[in-house]
Amino acid sequence: MELSWTRYPRLEHRKVLTLYDRFANLPKTEAFFLPHGNGRSYGDVCLNEDGMLLHTRRLDRFIAFDQATGRLRCEAGVLLKEILDLVVPQNWFLPVTPGTQFITVGGAIANDVHGKNHHCAGSFGNHVTCLELLRSDGQRIVCNMDKAMDWFTATIGGLGLTGLITWAEIQLIPVANPWMLVQSRRFSSLVEFWEINQEAEHRWPYTVAWFDCLSAGRGQGRGIYLAGQHAPITENLPQRHSRSLRFPLDPPFSLINPLSLRLINALYYHKPLKSEPVLSHFEPFFYPLDGLLDWNRIYGRRGFFQYQCVLPPEAAQEGIKTMAKKIAASGQGSFLAVLKTFGKIPSRGLMSFARSGVTLALDFPNCGPMTMRLFNELDAIVGNASGSLNPSKDARMSAQMFKNSFPNWEHFTDFIDPKFSSSFWRRVNK
Ligand SMILES: Cc1cc2nc3c(=O)[nH]c(=O)nc-3n(C[C@H](O)[C@H](O)[C@H](O)COP(=O)(O)OP(=O)(O)OC[C@H]3O[C@@H](n4cnc5c(N)ncnc54)[C@H](O)[C@@H]3O)c2cc1C
Repeated sequence: MELSWTRYPRLEHRKVLTLYDRFANLPKTEAFFLPHGNGRSYGDVCLNEDGMLLHTRRLDRFIAFDQATGRLRCEAGVLLKEILDLVVPQNWFLPVTPGTQFITVGGAIANDVHGKNHHCAGSFGNHVTCLELLRSDGQRIVCNMDKAMDWFTATIGGLGLTGLITWAEIQLIPVANPWMLVQSRRFSSLVEFWEINQEAEHRWPYTVAWFDCLSAGRGQGRGIYLAGQHAPITENLPQRHSRSLRFPLDPPFSLINPLSLRLINALYYHKPLKSEPVLSHFEPFFYPLDGLLDWNRIYGRRGFFQYQCVLPPEAAQEGIKTMAKKIAASGQGSFLAVLKTFGKIPSRGLMSFARSGVTLALDFPNCGPMTMRLFNELDAIVGNASGSLNPSKDARMSAQMFKNSFPNWEHFTDFIDPKFSSSFWRRVNK
């Protein structure tokens, strides 16, 4: 049984291939193939029921790194963490990073992931300078924005369907040290969030907000705004004491419930904050959840969902307010509730999720029909606002919703490898 990060859905696969040399000569079978990176997607985009998964973690070699220019070429199964371990001591950093460093370069490209700096850097694909795509007929396509551009733009955000990315080259950004300067501010309502955000986006390259999804009435939309930048050259950097814990068991039910959540949220909202920016190591700033390994098990055996949408700028304020009310009234939701604006830099991918607007992401324990009912209500708000859901966080959106949100889907089908498919793709093309 292969699982994605949410441990839902649970799908049987025919076979899982892990050897690199096999990819060059795929076995003859009627089954479909799908690349699988580190399984950090939240739904079925990395799953392929009854088909074959091509595990890419063995594609783990660095090919070239130019320390003077920050250009890095590596195989597609290399983890972002492995890149950071190599390049941060040499004063380089990833140009875009999601909220976990345990994803592969192939997964970052295929889902065209975004980070806290979307408003000034776009998404991961904007920083890929070249990649190689291996098709099931053995053809190798080396592509970028100048060469075989149609394959390049189909593969960025291409959900693993255009073939196997074997290697990629990315342009890193320079940093002075591994530290960040971080400013945290409490906000008491969504109105205050919009005010802070408007000002902060001009000043800070990294911004994100946590909000208390259960708080209703006067506390509705309260949260904490986080803004950061790479620390300049500074003397007297603090000592880093890094330590990861592991969530040790599979509880039969979710430990996240309205009672525990109200308590956690209230404690978090009222935690002491410094009025001045403070130094923080990049790991707790970018990857707070990585500090508790296997945290996804907290949600119990039924797993969980993430609901992530983006609403266009003109519809965002009203839409997010309505969604926040619905979520608070439902009593569902989790500690992870993130609000972030996406900027105007266009994504290169035909099917990229990130686009100008505001994104809201929340985790929900899988409480069966009750959770589905809430999602259907949220879908209606997103649909009316001409917004979209994120395929890499999805296990249930309808075919109609998908096609409305990704108008290039039909053109994209021209680039799908005839031997590749996924559970996600079959579900949204029913
Ligand atoms: C704690 C946490 C925080 C996250 N935060 C963010 C965030 O801030 N922003 C964001 O955008 N995402 C975020 N994500 C989602 C995650 O970044 C993406 O789902 C990412 O694509 C997972 O990469 P992976 O290597 O685990 O790939 P998988 O999940 O295994 O696969 C993802 C997709 O990539 C394809 N793929 C993988 N390797 C290849 C390859 N070599 N060639 C072709 N296709 C390939 C797969 O077929 C699949 O379609 C987060 C996930 C977690 C668990």
